[in-house]
Amino acid sequence: MAARVQMVGTSVGAVILAAGGGHRFGQIKQLLPLGGKPLLARVLDAVLASPVQQVVLVLGAHASTIRQQLAGYAAQPRLLIVDNPAWQQGLSTSLRAGLAALGLDVAAVLMVLGDQPHVSPELIARLLRRWQQTGARLVAPAYKGSWGNPVLFARSLFPELRAVTGDRGGRDVVRRHADELALVEVDAALCFDDIDTPADYVRALQLFQGEGALSREKRLSDIRHLLIDMDGVMYRGMTAIPGAREFLDFCRERGIPFLLFTNNSSLTPQEYVTKLAGMDIHVAPQEVFTSSAATAMHLGKVIPPGSRVYVIGESGVREALRAAGYEVADGHEGVAAVVVGWDRHLTYRKLKEATLAIRAGAAFIGTNPDKTYPAEEGLVPGNGAILAAIEAATDVSPFIVGKPELPIFQVALDRLDADAAHTAIIGDRPETDILGGQRAGLMTILVLTGVVGERELAASGLAPDWVFADLPALQNAWVAELG
Ligand SMILES: [Mg+2]
Repeated sequence: MAARVQMVGTSVGAVILAAGGGHRFGQIKQLLPLGGKPLLARVLDAVLASPVQQVVLVLGAHASTIRQQLAGYAAQPRLLIVDNPAWQQGLSTSLRAGLAALGLDVAAVLMVLGDQPHVSPELIARLLRRWQQTGARLVAPAYKGSWGNPVLFARSLFPELRAVTGDRGGRDVVRRHADELALVEVDAALCFDDIDTPADYVRALQLFQGEGALSREKRLSDIRHLLIDMDGVMYRGMTAIPGAREFLDFCRERGIPFLLFTNNSSLTPQEYVTKLAGMDIHVAPQEVFTSSAATAMHLGKVIPPGSRVYVIGESGVREALRAAGYEVADGHEGVAAVVVGWDRHLTYRKLKEATLAIRAGAAFIGTNPDKTYPAEEGLVPGNGAILAAIEAATDVSPFIVGKPELPIFQVALDRLDADAAHTAIIGDRPETDILGGQRAGLMTILVLTGVVGERELAASGLAPDWVFADLPALQNAWVAELG
């Protein structure tokens, strides 16, 4: 047996096909966050943890942005990332690009779809084992007799794979040789679930939220750290929501560190302390975490302190950047980044300076994406509206720090020295608090004291781990569980 294997070489390569456009998500599909990492990183990690010897990742649409996000993989000796400039002509072009990049010594290739979030090292190991045991030219996972992906193709089928045209992929080759296909029986999700639609994504988010959630009932008593949204949870306008102060007392008594957590970048932590004190809620400045603080912490990872930045925004964002050591510039000359937060004194000149800086190559960073702000008079323009104006003038999309994007969660967890799986977010908005929490791998708690009721929750398609009428209801359930 060993002789046969040695004759053809024993090396197996994997080609990850991730060149497609997929613009139904409002952001780059390959980078959709899932349980704390981008979708494509999840697939890459699974393949790199498997026994395959070479991995080729084929990119096409948004290749340079995706490469930047995957910069951490540069040191992986088994990984080669290639661009397929012809990706728009269909999946077959990516098959060819992937095969061309594989070493000549590979005896078989595993074709992995970049949008299959459940692919695992164990599944790949089982497919390889099956191939080694049977010598079959095709091996695929199957559920109830129907085969799915990823499929392993023996080298003798490479010419047929190269000859595929259009958007067909390897499916036709499998059909042509159906009698040679060896199957490995698995769960349906492992071989059939991919992310093609926003509904697929929501389902995957629910499955991945706090890894292992499927096998374990979540318990409030597992929560070690809390992120607590303020607007709609602690207060509405200038009025405290009943039970808010008592809930913070409860957290302190039980030794649960928390951050009061807001996307609003206009106030400084000290200004929030003062605002809360006016409602008889007493916290320390370090217990308040704004998107301004998150932006400054995030900026520290990408642009060295001391650099010049141009800022649109109010005292919150300006002070946070100055405190982090950045020079807040007056105009566009020589700035490394443009940071945009909510600014109720926005002028044409500010938009102009920001536009000129970004057009000259400065990074474009938004503290938060909220398009509107619920003021007393009704919904008024929020920071998202300012970002949209600059995006229109520059053709550059901003990098967003605030909810529901990952950076604010990552830096808040750093600040608390907390791990995502034992941290919960309490919020009042499914589309920011709950979606963001799920993306970051946190437990999620929705309270219905803000703008959203049960009807809006159902319409959002998002399932928080817990829904409570208000903070006292949450506190009662928590106390009851602790006994
Ligand atoms: Mg809120």
